[in-house]
Amino acid sequence: MSIFDSYVMALLTVPVAFLRLFLSSGDPRNEMQLGDSGLSARITKCYNLIVAKSSNVHPKDPEFPSCGVDDMTKLTYLHEPGVLQNLKCRYDLNEIYTYTGNILIAVNPFRRLPHLYSNEMMEQYKGGGSGELSPHPFAVADSSYRSMMNEKISQSILVSGESGAGKTESTKSLMCYLAYMGGKASKTEERSVEQKVLESNPVLEAFGNAKTVRNNNSSRFGKFVEIQFDQKGQISGAAIRTYLLERSRVCQVSDPERNYHCFYMLCGAPSEDVEKYKLGNPRTFHYLNQSNYFELDGVDEFKEYLATKSAMDVVGINQAEQDAIFRVVAAILHLGNIEFVQGEESDSSEPKDDKSRFHLKTAAELFKCNVKALEDSLVKRVMVTRGESITKSLDPVTAALSRDALAKIVYSKLFDWLVDKINVSIGQDPGSKMLIGVLDIYGFESFKTNSFEQFCINLTNEKLQQHFNQHVFKMEQEEYKKEEIDWSYIEFIDNQDILDLIEKKPGGIIALLDEACMFPRSTNETFAQKLYQTFKDHKRFSKPKLSRTDFTIYHYAGEVTYQTDLFLDKNKDYVVSEHQVLMHASECSFVSSLFPPPPEETSKSSKFSSIGSAFKQQLQALLETLSATQPHYIRCVKPNNALKPAIFENKNVLQQLRCGGVMEAIRISCAGFPSRKPFREFAVRFSILAPELLPKIKSGSFDEVSASKKILEKSKLKGYQIGKTKVFLRAGQMAELDALRVEV
Ligand code: ATP
Ligand code: MG
Repeated sequence: MSIFDSYVMALLTVPVAFLRLFLSSGDPRNEMQLGDSGLSARITKCYNLIVAKSSNVHPKDPEFPSCGVDDMTKLTYLHEPGVLQNLKCRYDLNEIYTYTGNILIAVNPFRRLPHLYSNEMMEQYKGGGSGELSPHPFAVADSSYRSMMNEKISQSILVSGESGAGKTESTKSLMCYLAYMGGKASKTEERSVEQKVLESNPVLEAFGNAKTVRNNNSSRFGKFVEIQFDQKGQISGAAIRTYLLERSRVCQVSDPERNYHCFYMLCGAPSEDVEKYKLGNPRTFHYLNQSNYFELDGVDEFKEYLATKSAMDVVGINQAEQDAIFRVVAAILHLGNIEFVQGEESDSSEPKDDKSRFHLKTAAELFKCNVKALEDSLVKRVMVTRGESITKSLDPVTAALSRDALAKIVYSKLFDWLVDKINVSIGQDPGSKMLIGVLDIYGFESFKTNSFEQFCINLTNEKLQQHFNQHVFKMEQEEYKKEEIDWSYIEFIDNQDILDLIEKKPGGIIALLDEACMFPRSTNETFAQKLYQTFKDHKRFSKPKLSRTDFTIYHYAGEVTYQTDLFLDKNKDYVVSEHQVLMHASECSFVSSLFPPPPEETSKSSKFSSIGSAFKQQLQALLETLSATQPHYIRCVKPNNALKPAIFENKNVLQQLRCGGVMEAIRISCAGFPSRKPFREFAVRFSILAPELLPKIKSGSFDEVSASKKILEKSKLKGYQIGKTKVFLRAGQMAELDALRVEV
């Protein structure tokens, strides 16, 4: 017995059903596909024999076209290997877009395909185009635009996918198309609304994007752009909402990542600007040189700086404001170079040396604030207890943390200012009742260590997933209604229990986190203990065995274990009052306006406001907006982690399709009548099952409905449905018919 034979024998002793397939016969009935991309450990091949678990074997369509199909619902067999094979064979032909019903799947080509996005292409898609057009974001944008115009219902296009999958690029194509459809030439010098909308992208990317392990141009914030149209279908205004900019990146980066693009651009700016802001080589700044990555392939920072400034011009940010913005960016870099050592008294600190004093002075000059006041705000804290204020010195470690906190708050306020400014400059159309919203938001994340950011991101995805499932489910129902077929309720996985676990008030994780933040003696350990106690019987929650502070949530897309270490700190949104006072006193009106005095009541009561709760409310508002629209979905897929063209990693892609709900959409559809064929097509394909019909069918003159019925009768299938235009089959029935066809 060969080693293979003994392996096969060993497998056969395992008490699960195995299927033996002889692939040498050439018989299409025996051609099968292996599930999980053939990765099952229990699969082995020996000569012409494959032994596999029956649940891992799926029927393959003998008539599968070599170029694939442009819509998954056209696949005779709708299952994971079939979906994957279709995407791959299209990807190999540079056909990166494919539909699954009305979801557009976009596989990142990692190479420029300019012909796909030209003006001629837009012209072709305009108004639905003539004839069959390939799947494309333009087609999604066009169908949204037409639905909006015809039915007077607002639309939304939800773009999702993991980091580097192509969400932002897809969003830009959508916006280009909408600007093309709804644009009007401006009669004055003033830039048009659509130009401002489009140019907001490079501005926000300069300040909100960075190189990460997963994407060289990763958006570190979520974005919802709402484009408003007038009665004539012309763009009349737009609003940009952003979500959760990653603040920690401003002072913390690690190989091979970078800080936000704007820092490197400014260091590479024309020499007069570099001198004005006292900058130089990015390698000399602590906030940048914690990582060894400074340059980006194919990116010229000098050009990027000028391009960003000209985009700023278009969106209405004037020269004085641009100067102030870059001055603040430079000041942050100088701030980061201030190091502290122990001062004269114990537990106090002071700038380490002349170099640190130089950066302190420069930062103060650039912020246009008093240098002594800046130093004090970093090395001292005023504590108010029982009406008495006591000034306390900070040790060098705490002073450095205070410096980083100032850098982060200034940067995040700067980013918010940019978004507000762009919104004001584009202008809103309060009269518009027709909107198209485009959502470009982070996909599900599960890393080795997961913190508060992943927790918020995954909450977003849970909420969007619920919205998606409900919608896909509704669409299925509508199709059945339209075709007037009987159908009973289909179960689908509802993730409401996970949403309750996270956001229920009171008692959910966010509420418990807020409680912990308000209680001065809380630590991440007490917070974790509280979670363990409260959710010990929750089936979506568990405590990892070997940890005293981690917790696991069973998300719809998989389980994620979160480390609570920084949850409390990261949830607290407050400006240290010394920083507030200092920046508000700046002689630069721009800097001062970033830090308006807090309202009287809040300065007296608790300084704490919760990032988690604020984010939850933002999400709630987003979902309310979305639920008033007709949604369209684009699921972006990253075919490999090397960020290289022509590599398609099956397992990786499959995982993304599962997380993006594509597989769930297919499952929902499979639970009903997943295989559907128009009567004529059906009758032609299966005519051999009712040979008496053959002559008529061959001649082309036959009653397609009664022919289809006859075929189904003879096949003795049960549970199928006859719609108005199509035959609806239960999962697996198409395979049965194919098998019968081959037998005849
Ligand atoms: P993140 O969540 O990190 O922001 P993302 O999903 O927005 O990621 P993109 O920035 O859109 O990802 O895409 C990553 C990179 O992939 C782009 O910079 C570009 O190089 C390439 N890419 C994406 N889509 C396309 C496309 N349609 N054509 C050519 N290249 C693309
Ligand atoms: Mg992006």
